[in-house]
Amino acid sequence: MTSVKEFILTKRAGREHSPQELKAFIDGYLAGEIADYQVAAWLMAVYFRSMSSAETREWTRLMWQSGRTLPRSDRRDYWIDKHSTGGVGDKTSLILVPWVASACRRLFGESSVRLPMVSGRGLGHTGGTLDKLEAVPGFSPRVSLERALELLSTQGYFMMGQTDDMAPADRLLYSLRDVTGTVESLPLIVSSILSKKLSENLDGLVLDVKSGSGAFMKTPAEAEALARGLLDGAKGQGLGAVALLTSMEEPLGLKVGHQLEVEECMDFLAGQAQDAGLWLVTLELAAWMVRLSSRGKLSLGSAKDALQTELTSGRPLAEYRCMFEAQGGRWNEFVANREYLPETYVRVGCRAKTSGWVRQIDPLATGIFVTALGGGRLRKEDSVDFRVGVEFARKCGDEVTLGDIVAWVVCPRSREAAVAIWFEQAVVVGPERPEARRWLLGVIE
Ligand code: URA
Repeated sequence: MTSVKEFILTKRAGREHSPQELKAFIDGYLAGEIADYQVAAWLMAVYFRSMSSAETREWTRLMWQSGRTLPRSDRRDYWIDKHSTGGVGDKTSLILVPWVASACRRLFGESSVRLPMVSGRGLGHTGGTLDKLEAVPGFSPRVSLERALELLSTQGYFMMGQTDDMAPADRLLYSLRDVTGTVESLPLIVSSILSKKLSENLDGLVLDVKSGSGAFMKTPAEAEALARGLLDGAKGQGLGAVALLTSMEEPLGLKVGHQLEVEECMDFLAGQAQDAGLWLVTLELAAWMVRLSSRGKLSLGSAKDALQTELTSGRPLAEYRCMFEAQGGRWNEFVANREYLPETYVRVGCRAKTSGWVRQIDPLATGIFVTALGGGRLRKEDSVDFRVGVEFARKCGDEVTLGDIVAWVVCPRSREAAVAIWFEQAVVVGPERPEARRWLLGVIE
């Protein structure tokens, strides 16, 4: 390749790299021959100059092939996963795995569909699936590749974190992007997300691309651009994908916080879903997963009918428990301790200060609040408090009377004073009923 400096200058001038140049650059970086500061300079050039779709496709392939791919002997069974760009109260993966696995078994046979779920931890104001799973004592997302494959063949799914040998280039680059202000670049996001998913050797991927104040993408137009980039990238690598554009203008579901969210998913799978938004978004994602798994044979409507029938059978709820226990989770202990709150914690009720309609629940402020209570991470190394969180008694569009409880907050006694400040900032009750929320903003196939 040309010199590293010339490579950086090419991108700085807005010119396209050849596949050979990209390969030499990534190989040099992984071999320790190119310094972090040079890669950081190139990332900044990409941030400003972007990459063509041919470059993005090549870069995605190189990132994915920097590591190992889950081995598969044949493609008779269908491997599917979903990816969400993240939001507050976004707990859909915990519901989707047992629900879709259970429905697909019934629809297509015992070993026809597999869900190899590789998820991440929360950082910043959004919670991660792995942290939520760990709210059940004993659960471990760190499983060996051998155990992961065993779980996939016996129960049809696993829930694990990215291993050291899955897309290692992404791990190195993401850490650099995180500290150099270069995360928010469309081709870099697309290649980062897809490189991890491609390591799972999938046949199908359902994307939940969120927009709104609690999401990574603030506007529907930005979310649509990301969705199209991801779909283009997936198609470029031969991966079947569909993107759902969903709203993140208020927290998803009634609960935010790890233990609370595991409980909410349990209630959902017991057929007691209480939040219209969570129901709609999860059903839509589940239906697309089932439709893709049917290799297009089942309509979306039939997939939804089958999922609803499956839920009433009680099998997805039983599967939910298995999902934790197969990876060490002590489910009985979790359920027995659900109501227990140590002396050092409080449950604080937040009351409406006026009558009217709940018009706004700011997801960003809520995510930041739960993180500050100890329920999230500011740095990768931080530990999380599974107990803290917010439980909404009312959501946007609900009518309230002065003095009604709108939300409960579980927090350490020492943080009680922060509750009123959050409530004041995040929750707005006004005299007019707001327009009904559109949770599903679009679907791009
Ligand atoms: N999530 C990822 O995995 N990568 C990004 O670049 C952004 C969000």
